[in-house]
Amino acid sequence: MVKQQPTFSVVAPVYNEEQLIAEFCRRVIAALEPLGEPFELVLVNDGCRDRSPEIMRELHQRDPRIKVINFSRNFGHQIAITAGTDYATGKAVIVIDSDLQDPPEVIPELIARWREGYQVVYGVREEREGETWFKKTTAAIFYRLIVRITNVNIPVDTGDFRLMDRKVVDALKRMREHHRFMRGLSAWIGFRQTGVPYRRHARAAGTTKYPLRKMLRFALDGITSFSYLPLQLATYLGFIVAAISMIFLLVVFVMRLADPSAPEPAFYGQASTLASVLFLGAVQLISLGIIGEYVGRIYDEVKGRPLYIVAEALGVEEEPATSPA
Ligand code: UDP
Ligand code: MG
Repeated sequence: MVKQQPTFSVVAPVYNEEQLIAEFCRRVIAALEPLGEPFELVLVNDGCRDRSPEIMRELHQRDPRIKVINFSRNFGHQIAITAGTDYATGKAVIVIDSDLQDPPEVIPELIARWREGYQVVYGVREEREGETWFKKTTAAIFYRLIVRITNVNIPVDTGDFRLMDRKVVDALKRMREHHRFMRGLSAWIGFRQTGVPYRRHARAAGTTKYPLRKMLRFALDGITSFSYLPLQLATYLGFIVAAISMIFLLVVFVMRLADPSAPEPAFYGQASTLASVLFLGAVQLISLGIIGEYVGRIYDEVKGRPLYIVAEALGVEEEPATSPA
């Protein structure tokens, strides 16, 4: 008997969400069941250290539509989403956070737009409840910055909550880069895309798994994946400093010619020499650091390691077909 392909796959990354995971599954199933089509829920256990894995195993045993991919360790949110979409078999794949910040009740709205013929339907955060002032401001600045400095049309204020058609998911599977900015990749693929506004709720329980350090890494991955601007900054700065120093030298030269006996102006002193040497030293170190960010990423690609290691997959018959890294 050929197994029926589910129409919808819901993919959710899980990292230490023991308080939420059962409730999350209940709400997803409640949102999808009325549609009357087969679906699956792919939970990716991103190396949880709490009771989530046991709970997920139980959920799978009770309802085989719930599938569980257990990573061998924590690989990170974006990699977890990647694995989930690799294993998903549905005609449409919906990626959603498992902390109930993205309400599962919005999924039918995404599906409605998909039925209208859109291949990517992303959620647009109209409001973000229960997040710190700092997170909201930095996120708002970041999304606007990345739109300006990249050539990819990444929609503003969208997260990873989105629906992707099978065609888009298959294209995504061919992109095996290690430093993944999934919302950018899915925009890069193209096809017909549209947004659905929704209210992003506060986390239902637990705490954020994105401390400042991870947020910075994530922002850097987004920028370096889609823009060379940081590298070009060194060139621009070089030209600017060269222009300023030429003007400065010219001024000094003219002043000398005009009055050779005049005393040396104050800005000839040691302090100004030191300041300009230190300034240029700093600029060079920063530029080296920026180059380092790119070189490190090149190194990660060249090593060609797999994106993730699966310790155990519950409820999936076969390994996903992804092109080699
Ligand atoms: N997550 C994950 N691996 C990680 C960090 C987070 O799978 O290393 C999951 C987490 O369980 C949640 C989603 O990714 O479902 C988003 O994380 P979180 O809610 O902590 O981020 P925030 O919404 O605060 O930006
Ligand atoms: Mg969250």
